[in-house]
Amino acid sequence: KPDFDPRDPLGIDAELTTEQLALRDSVRALCRDLVRPHVADWFERGEFPQARELARELGKLGVLGMHLEGYGCAGASAVDYGVACEELEAADSGLRSLVSVQGSLAMYGIWRWGSEEHKQQWLPKMAAGEAIGCFGLTEPDHGSDPASMTTRARRDGSDWVLDGRKMWITNGSIADVAVVWAQTEEGVRGFVVPTDTPGFAAPELKKKLSLRASVTSELVLDEVRLPDSAALPGAVGLRGPLSCLNEARYGIVWGVTGAARDCLETALDYARGREQFGKPIAGFQLTQQKLADMAVRVQNARLLALHLGKRKDAGTLLPQQVSFGKLDNVRGALEVARSARTVLGANGISLEYPVIRHMTNLESVLTYEGTGEMHALTIGQALTGSNAFR
Ligand code: FAD
Repeated sequence: KPDFDPRDPLGIDAELTTEQLALRDSVRALCRDLVRPHVADWFERGEFPQARELARELGKLGVLGMHLEGYGCAGASAVDYGVACEELEAADSGLRSLVSVQGSLAMYGIWRWGSEEHKQQWLPKMAAGEAIGCFGLTEPDHGSDPASMTTRARRDGSDWVLDGRKMWITNGSIADVAVVWAQTEEGVRGFVVPTDTPGFAAPELKKKLSLRASVTSELVLDEVRLPDSAALPGAVGLRGPLSCLNEARYGIVWGVTGAARDCLETALDYARGREQFGKPIAGFQLTQQKLADMAVRVQNARLLALHLGKRKDAGTLLPQQVSFGKLDNVRGALEVARSARTVLGANGISLEYPVIRHMTNLESVLTYEGTGEMHALTIGQALTGSNAFR
């Protein structure tokens, strides 16, 4: 029998293939070399200066749009993609957000709903990290209820003209292409907008106290004129953006287990080394209760992520099941981060340790891609048959 492994107490790693373990090691090594030494500094400065360089390195590893087929994408499994997300978010949720928005929102939107021309033009560059994408759905006055969006696309001859504002858009200021959702006479449609199109601006949002090592922007669309071919031909109505969100939420289900694991491992190391009242605080029952609860939370989250990943690979994963994962794994990761923070005492609030950074990042993760409340209502509706959204 194998020994008990505190890093993998339930032996979940045995469920992963050799290739998946190798992928995990490669992503972990990239994070160890290029992200971990700098991320606290980026976070403190509220900048993500290496985003472009990192995108190219991530492109070389094949993790951008990795679960998509063709057009330079890796065509990997859903579990492979999840394993990568877990490692990326163990470094920082901002890094995983870069990859999620690139691969699951912008690239997936083009891959699933775009024309052959869109795919040829954008996907190979985006898979290589040579072009960065963003995804504009949320508006200043419309977040959880995107059906009420006011950004409009109107016909002018054979062109489209877009007007409106999008808010809280990850990668916005560094993007080469934006997938923007707007109301049209036919319903909500998606548009592939090169960010150098006249009338498009993406000022960066400042004063964030969460996801500080991530670019978040407003998108300003002022009479942005696009050719007819800019519209995503496949998507009319909210099923277009919702299908993309479902992909990204799946990545979050895995990603947050990485952030939680990093908090647990930091707390465990700290508790073993920190002495009070003449012995390591790891020897106190109250500390052990916290560590045991954290370990159970992290491993339950990993099991749920793996279960959903297997269903996704089998083609049986339902959006309501993704809501289970998004709701509970983010909530659980936040609990772990908050508990780990207490184990570190005053050091728990210092950027010398990753815990407070993960904790504040997870506050954004709780809100974006459908708030905790929205996922609870989705599950509630699935259980009861009654819609409590409005
Ligand atoms: P609101 O919808 O105003 O909700 C406020 C509160 O009311 C929440 O608690 C919500 O759950 C609750 N609430 C609303 N309706 C109900 C109801 N019917 N019943 C019960 N409670 C309800 N968006 C993008 O399009 N692209 C991005 O790349 C992107 N990146 C982001 C990055 C960051 C760092 C953040 C913080 C957000 C990002 N978002 C992005 C936006 C995010 O998806 C929205 O913030 C989210 O959908 C919630 O919308 P809102 O902030 O407008 O909150």
